[in-house]
Amino acid sequence: MNQEQLKTWIEDNLDWYECSEDYSEPGYSKDEGKELIFFANWNGIDEDIMEQIEENFMVEWSDEWYQCCDCGKSIRTQADCYHWQPYYHMFNECEPVCFDCISENAGLQETLLKDFIIKGNEIDIDKDSVNFRLLQINDFELEDHGFKVLNQDHYENGFHPGQDDDPKTILKNLDVSFLESNQFLFKQSEQSQFYMKFDLYSKPIN
Ligand SMILES: [Zn+2]
Repeated sequence: MNQEQLKTWIEDNLDWYECSEDYSEPGYSKDEGKELIFFANWNGIDEDIMEQIEENFMVEWSDEWYQCCDCGKSIRTQADCYHWQPYYHMFNECEPVCFDCISENAGLQETLLKDFIIKGNEIDIDKDSVNFRLLQINDFELEDHGFKVLNQDHYENGFHPGQDDDPKTILKNLDVSFLESNQFLFKQSEQSQFYMKFDLYSKPIN
């Protein structure tokens, strides 16, 4: 079968599939000569047909991938190595958008920040109410959104001695009036197998 016939075969024979023109996932690219990526549950497909599909298209498992709601490119949802991290943010609990799109879109960034911001006047440090989420997107300049970094040296948390910085303790040690009049964000600055580094950003609550 040629490519068009194969596409028709996929359409007619698979209960469900997705198609995407490229990867947004870091480290992935289409093989030369292949224009499309198909996502499906490939179990049970006739071997001969499967071979032809694989010769013509990139083939992935649909339960391991999303398509970005903005650009349509593909992002992994399942780890494929120990240091894998999602390259997307899930908006409204069902709309994955890849980091490439987010880094180009200030409006999306504003929306995303709302999921990470800790409002100093809404937390009760003593009652363990810090809902700590770490922003992990590179090239995301919080300064563009009115935030300022507070620490001089990166905070560190990991296996090595002394790498025990804890977001809750960090907030707890802030001046109370400063805490109550600001909103905060923790952003990862480095991730390795054994530790991570992060920074604390603040912006006054207006
Ligand atoms: Zn995208």
